[in-house]
Amino acid sequence: MPEMIKCEGLVKIYKTEDIEVMALQGLDLTIEQGELIAIIGNSGSGKSTFLNMVGGLERPSAGRLFVDGEDLFQYTDEQLKDYKQNTVGFVWQNNARNLFPYLTAEQNIMVPMQFAKNKNVNKKDRAKELLEMVGLSHKRDRLLHQLSGGEQQRIAIAIALANQPKILLADEPTGAVDMKTSNMIQDMFREFNRELGVTIVIVTHDLSLSNKVNRVVSIRDGKISSERLIKADYLSKIKELDNFSAADTHEEYAILDKNGRVQIPHDYLEAAGITDNRVKIKMDGTNIIITK
Ligand code: ADP
Ligand code: MG
Repeated sequence: MPEMIKCEGLVKIYKTEDIEVMALQGLDLTIEQGELIAIIGNSGSGKSTFLNMVGGLERPSAGRLFVDGEDLFQYTDEQLKDYKQNTVGFVWQNNARNLFPYLTAEQNIMVPMQFAKNKNVNKKDRAKELLEMVGLSHKRDRLLHQLSGGEQQRIAIAIALANQPKILLADEPTGAVDMKTSNMIQDMFREFNRELGVTIVIVTHDLSLSNKVNRVVSIRDGKISSERLIKADYLSKIKELDNFSAADTHEEYAILDKNGRVQIPHDYLEAAGITDNRVKIKMDGTNIIITK
């Protein structure tokens, strides 16, 4: 599959009056077209910063970021605006960022269509289609406060998909909804990914969500620290992953960077009794062995 998102040594520094925060510290990550990927990590690890950059909301401080072969760094403000309206769709945890309170569900969905590149789309028909996709056709005339939090979030997903983006970005999309809605939203992401072929990147704390995608990337201190990939045997059972534990369905990988550096999980070091910063490394012909 072609690459949809490619970051190389991505750095983001936030400067406030007296401090500098390095939110991303040289992030390398490639996401292929059509992937459904979750990004996990502690609060403050740089997840939203990464997503905002891919969403064209923030500009990188250094490094490279390509989306669908285009260098986002080189975009003019005008190109970036078009990119945000047509190439990416964004869903936030907080619905207030996605929706206008004085418009109906249907009107909300039609808002982004004013900026659609494809002018031939009938807005009303498209809104109808989107409402069906998120299972809310019967609530199209409701105002924001007449919808539950979960319904608002489903409308937000419809809004994000309105202009048929290549990428759907979701920042903690199930952070503020109950378990049942969370499951429904997870199923929707999988369905849209499979049926529309849209590349989906979800930032989440929700382990039940991250266990249900093919690939889970962990960010620590603004860098990718490890990855979990679904085992081939479970690819065909992706709808039933609820029935298995993540330890069975996914395999854990460490990330080896271009300079040959690898981050070893703390619990592995602890279990091996390694406390010194100098370790022995040995090649036994097949495996690389690290000992104290
Ligand atoms: P996450 O989404 O993983 O919780 P963020 O990407 O929001 O993490 O933040 C990463 C780091 O960057 C944190 O230390 C955060 O305080 C800092 N940060 C994020 N946005 C800003 C900003 N606009 N100004 C200053 N610091 C920021
Ligand atoms: Mg965040």
